[in-house]
Amino acid sequence: MASTLKLEIVTPDRMVLSEDVEYVGCPGIEGEFGIMPSHVPFLSALGIGNLYYKLDGRNYYVFVAGGFAEVSDNKVTILAEVAEKAHEIDVERARKAQERAEQRAREQQEKVDFSRNQAALRRALMRMSCQDSGKGAGTC
Ligand code: ATP
Repeated sequence: MASTLKLEIVTPDRMVLSEDVEYVGCPGIEGEFGIMPSHVPFLSALGIGNLYYKLDGRNYYVFVAGGFAEVSDNKVTILAEVAEKAHEIDVERARKAQERAEQRAREQQEKVDFSRNQAALRRALMRMSCQDSGKGAGTC
């Protein structure tokens, strides 16, 4: 059995990451799933959350929102709508996005698209938690 697998994270704008890793924890739309080397072929939609991978005893964190994860030939391909490595996250921007979403939630309900606002709030909260998890962890 292989001891590592290739992880590629791609968005419409850029290649975010391409690394050989030991494990990937992925935020699927129905909850987190883990992928080890030699995993069987697999396809899942991504939710909004924090992907992490393990390499040489360290964890590395990447925020992802929407898209798909595909596993085949000992490779995990993350086709994400949006992805940022922990150290790329602008926490102040996320905090402002959180405030806007919370303010909208307090406004007249009929004017607010509830699920869109919930997604914006979750993106903001998950970005902050990703940046926090990334502190003291490895920089990918
Ligand atoms: P905002 O309202 O601040 O734009 P958002 O959640 O609506 O936040 P997205 O639509 O998820 O933003 O992302 C739009 C682009 O901005 C993407 O390229 C994303 O990587 C980038 N981005 C958004 N927020 C941040 C952040 N806090 N730090 C770094 N990049 C960010």
